[in-house]
Formats: sequence, structure tokens, C-alpha cells
Amino acid sequence: MNNDHSVKNSDDNLTAYVQQLSLENFGWEFKHKAIWNNHLRSTGGRFFPKDNHLDFNPKMAELPDFDKIILHELVHYHLYQQKRGYKHADKDFKQLLAQVGGLRYAPNLSTSKLIYSCQQCGQIYPRQRKINTQKYRCGRCHGKLQLKYF
Ligand SMILES: [Zn+2]
Ligand SMILES: [Zn+2]
Repeated sequence: MNNDHSVKNSDDNLTAYVQQLSLENFGWEFKHKAIWNNHLRSTGGRFFPKDNHLDFNPKMAELPDFDKIILHELVHYHLYQQKRGYKHADKDFKQLLAQVGGLRYAPNLSTSKLIYSCQQCGQIYPRQRKINTQKYRCGRCHGKLQLKYF
């Protein structure tokens, strides 16, 4: 359905993708695992200091901001490895997040009652209200939109 995002297929692909983003944006290696977690609801990702792995929400994977969600979790990850302030309120966290352009907060899917997706490329469009799918097309590929979740 969505060939661009083979990253969605497996945890190995996801880990490789996170490693790549980490090197490109931080110049630091990501040495642990990234795992898809279907149980995350309103958050896009989560960092676990206990074993240093990252969880990501597959529902967010097709949002245009998904890379920025990964960057946010990587800021937690790298600061923790370096024994610096890795929590949201810490100065180190705020500075590094701004530096790499990570997302401050995950896009909130739970306040969007309706989620449309493109039939062609799989792009997701969370919306508060119903949209006219005859008129409104995918902004990325002009494909037809369909209602996916309620
Ligand atoms: Zn966070
Ligand atoms: Zn599309």
C-alpha cells in the first residue's frame, strides 16, 4: 500500500531508520532498539531509560512529522547516555530539541475524532470534522481519501 514507508514493516527496519536519523541529525550513534508499540495512544513515541529502547506508535508513522517525533525521542536517548538533563523540563533537553528541530509535543491523535487516509499513498489526515472526500484530495499525491478510524 505504501512503498515509501518500508520502515513500517518491521522493528529491524525501524531501528535502522532511527540509526540513520540519529547519525544525520546528531552525529551520534543510536545503539539500542526501536520497537513498534500498538498500545501507545496519544503519544508518538517513548524512551525507556531502563534498557534504553524506544517505542513508536505505528498510527503516527505516516504523519509528515514522524521524523520529528523520532528526533524528540532521540534527544531523550542521547542526553540520558551522556548523563545530561534528559527530561522535558531540563535545559539540556530544550536546547538540543531546538537544535535538531524535534517536535515539542506529539501530534494529538486522540482529539481528532476522524482519521482519513489516502487510498494511494497511505498519508494520514487527522480531522476534527467530516470532510468532503469528493472535493478534498491528498495533498501529497492527489489520491482519494477514505475514512479510516473513528
Ligand atoms: Zn518526550
Ligand atoms: Zn496520497
